[in-house]
Amino acid sequence: MLDLAIIGGGPAGLTAGLYATRGGLEEVVMFEKGMPGGQITQSSEVENYPGIVDIVSGMELMQEWPKQCMRFGLKHEMAEVVRVSRPEGLCYKIELSDGSSVGAKSVIVCTGSTPRRAGFDGEEKFFGRGVSTCATCDGFFYRDKEVAVIGGGDTALEEALFLAKICSKVYLIHRRDEFRAAPSTVERVMANEKIFPVLNSVPVEVYGDEMGVSGLKVKKKESGEILDLPVPGVFVFVGSDVNNGVLKQEDGSFLCDMSEWGEVVVDLAMRTSEEGLFAAGDVRIMAPKQVVCAAGDGANAAIGAIAYVEHLKREKLC
Ligand SMILES: Cc1cc2nc3c(=O)[nH]c(=O)nc-3n(C[C@H](O)[C@H](O)[C@H](O)COP(=O)(O)OP(=O)(O)OC[C@H]3O[C@@H](n4cnc5c(N)ncnc54)[C@H](O)[C@@H]3O)c2cc1C
Repeated sequence: MLDLAIIGGGPAGLTAGLYATRGGLEEVVMFEKGMPGGQITQSSEVENYPGIVDIVSGMELMQEWPKQCMRFGLKHEMAEVVRVSRPEGLCYKIELSDGSSVGAKSVIVCTGSTPRRAGFDGEEKFFGRGVSTCATCDGFFYRDKEVAVIGGGDTALEEALFLAKICSKVYLIHRRDEFRAAPSTVERVMANEKIFPVLNSVPVEVYGDEMGVSGLKVKKKESGEILDLPVPGVFVFVGSDVNNGVLKQEDGSFLCDMSEWGEVVVDLAMRTSEEGLFAAGDVRIMAPKQVVCAAGDGANAAIGAIAYVEHLKREKLC
């Protein structure tokens, strides 16, 4: 029986592992289906992690994190978790994709979220090298330059407003003839001199070279006309999928309370509605979707898990 199972080995999971092992939990396993590091390893440039002065790639940022955790006894199992349940009593059951399962006194879910792709040519090739899904992360790289934003909902418009503070011009490309965002947000966008809505239009191809993106081709839906926008940065905001599948039970319900968008509901200590079950990072409600925030969540959740497991042990409950 594990003291703690951590699901996911991104910034949240690794930091949870560091704090849990260093804080005295003995059997702590981090289940990660790929290499540890999380989605930031797809980024070619990160410059907003505190204490890291130079611009580094996501891979460089994360490379020492696993080593630091392993030093304190965190075990990494390269395995995909398919379900976390609580079949009987207080303990959790972690089911893996190979059919095996393991028991745990406490669980921290750190499975992140996956930004959706819009599906135009070159999007995947240039992802992290000019195509981005995060204005807070990458907007600054395009200071005083022109960028394009794809999307018509609240996030796309809020991010366009954010980028307009940094960039010289923001093309806002939306496939419909009106935006789906809150009316007050639409009003702010329309009043912003730096934002140029390109409505009834879809992105068809982002292009560039090994240095990154140099332009985006956009098709006007009615006329078929192609606009060639000379932008080095393309920001895609067409929604994101929360990786909450591990919490889905056999009957289709979730193990703990979830928001209407499928994010895990937590309190300020990262506790879910189920005692001993925590969630940290991009998978939780109101996640700022930043490495530093995910790491902070992981530490916070681990501190809660330590207290919970100690209580179980004291009371001989699990
Ligand atoms: C291209 C790009 C650039 C970014 N740039 C920045 C930036 O400059 N600054 C910044 O602060 N943030 C940036 N971000 C955002 C940042 O990467 C995320 O906010 C952060 O990684 C979230 O951490 P997390 O641990 O919650 O989740 P993730 O990093 O998504 O990690 C989740 C991990 O869980 C694993 N996992 C999922 N499901 C399972 C399962 N069932 N079983 C086992 N393992 C599972 C995944 O393989 C993954 O490794 C960027 C993101 C991207 C994609």
